[in-house]
Amino acid sequence: MSDTLMKALAFDNQVRIYVVTATDTVEEARRRHETWHTATAAFGRTLIATTLLSANLKGEDTLSVEIKGTGPIGSIHADGSPNGYIRGFVKNPHVALELNEAGKLDVSGAVGLPGSLTVRKFIQGGEPFSGQVALISGELGEDFTYYMAVSEQTPSAIGLSVLINPDESVKAAGGFMIQMLPDATEETIVAVEKQLASLGRFSDLIDLGLSPEELLAKLVGEDNYKILAQNGVQFHCHCSHDYYAAQLIRVQDEDLTAMIEEDHGAEIVCHYCNEKYHYSEEELIAIRESKA
Ligand SMILES: [Zn+2]
Repeated sequence: MSDTLMKALAFDNQVRIYVVTATDTVEEARRRHETWHTATAAFGRTLIATTLLSANLKGEDTLSVEIKGTGPIGSIHADGSPNGYIRGFVKNPHVALELNEAGKLDVSGAVGLPGSLTVRKFIQGGEPFSGQVALISGELGEDFTYYMAVSEQTPSAIGLSVLINPDESVKAAGGFMIQMLPDATEETIVAVEKQLASLGRFSDLIDLGLSPEELLAKLVGEDNYKILAQNGVQFHCHCSHDYYAAQLIRVQDEDLTAMIEEDHGAEIVCHYCNEKYHYSEEELIAIRESKA
């Protein structure tokens, strides 16, 4: 089953809810960047959160997330868009820490406090928006929840979950965001909290093969929701051979000449997706001539 983001209302329109399955997306990110298990978990949780935060973007809007801590991973970057395309990278992909005291992947150890979480939104026709909070746990679910409360004034419950196989591949990944709308009653808030407390690990449910709608039912109860929309989610970078050729046009003439005469070509690696592009001596000469 491919990855899906589902948006719904629940409890008679008192609660907004987003559910995302992201096993293939996080596995593709791991494969491309060759992350080790603790880095995969931290990176995966960031990609899932970025997908959830991007759910309300429109058209050409984009959003980017940056996590900067003092742990071995260095920093985590992710970009989201409304069509479910997600991409990102981590500074140090080879992080494999001992499990923490709870026997879980030590995401907060990889991220490292103190640190910050920054969200930038580029909305078509609007001013760019930027919000930043200090990391409060480093496990990231709580940090994104804190960001939503402080920076966007939207009380939310956010769950981010990644399970890794012994061979380092991603077993299951996904998450949810639940938001109380202004007319939510005390009774509804208590009911949602009770449901979340009995949920267990979200990626275990994905690993069992539950569909996004079945996950939704687990979060808010059967026959208690109305699905608004759903779309596919995938790791996707918009780079291409042509894209980086256009970037090479901006390189100074003498640097292009050095690439041509000394290196006899150039290789560019995309930060976001780790794709490698090769430019031959002839292509570089054509690029240099096109500048004249
Ligand atoms: Zn790329």
